[in-house]
Amino acid sequence: MILIDGKKAAAELRAELKEEVAELRSKHNKVPGLTVILIGDLTPSQIYVRNKEKSANEVGLKSEVIKYPDTVEEKTVLEKIQELNSDETVSGILVQLPLPKHIDKQKVIEAIDPSKDVDGFHPMNVGNLSSGYESSIPCTPLGCYLLIKKIEPNLNGKKAVIVGRSNLNGKPMTQLLLKENCTVTITHSKTKDLKAECLEADIIVAAVGIPELVRGDWVKKDAVVIDVGINKTDSGIVGDVHFDEVSKNAKALTPVPGGVGPMTIACLLKNTIDCFKRSQIK
Ligand code: NAP
Repeated sequence: MILIDGKKAAAELRAELKEEVAELRSKHNKVPGLTVILIGDLTPSQIYVRNKEKSANEVGLKSEVIKYPDTVEEKTVLEKIQELNSDETVSGILVQLPLPKHIDKQKVIEAIDPSKDVDGFHPMNVGNLSSGYESSIPCTPLGCYLLIKKIEPNLNGKKAVIVGRSNLNGKPMTQLLLKENCTVTITHSKTKDLKAECLEADIIVAAVGIPELVRGDWVKKDAVVIDVGINKTDSGIVGDVHFDEVSKNAKALTPVPGGVGPMTIACLLKNTIDCFKRSQIK
């Protein structure tokens, strides 16, 4: 079984991006800039943002974090986004989720200029992705896609089963694999026989949030299995895939932690650089 090393893949991607940033600096005399808005003091969000900032600095991006207390008014955040939309030194804007209840998440997402939407959540980018046009692609599914391509460069005609239909993971993952000519089944909590669906799959992507849902006897021999889940349990962090069981059948599997997670941040940097490059062509 191939253990898909997300840490290594992310380090390789960051190294490529660092070179690209250096080339962009010498060509345009400026570098892509990423601005993250962090609202409140939730520990996981603070950790994510710190890691994003560290990685952005590592590849040579200009990076900035704007912090607000969780009492900040929605209007203040929307005005700041407008300001960043018209700031030429800002290539990418990310508002760290979740947001406090009094702030409308969709309003915030839609306030971001789609050409600076490095999370790929703006409806314009969602539509472009599903229409097959150029767009920002949500970072986690993009990371999964890059990991799958390392194992299966030719996905033509493969059967893929996506477990979970969230806007964040399952739906964009479906679009990415469709684009590669996979036959894609997207499953969810109302799917009648999830095991039977999974048993058909050459590729399984599990993004559910249920610890070790996908079992060893759900997986066809030689399937490539990508585990997006991050679940805190009494025995530590586990994924949505039963690692010990599935590793006995699968051709390749991502561990949790150390699989998809590290790729998510590296893909955020990639999206920032891609937004910058598109802005230079305009
Ligand atoms: P989400 O928005 O909660 O969506 C979960 C999806 O799973 C829903 O579509 C739900 O179906 C489906 N589901 C629930 N129970 C199911 C069942 N028994 N069988 C089949 N499908 C079922 O979750 P998410 O935001 O996509 O996150 C999923 C997991 O990925 C979480 O563990 C999260 O922490 C993790 N995650 C990891 C990263 C990373 O960087 N590695 C990034 C983001 C998220 P319905 O639509 O019918 O409710």
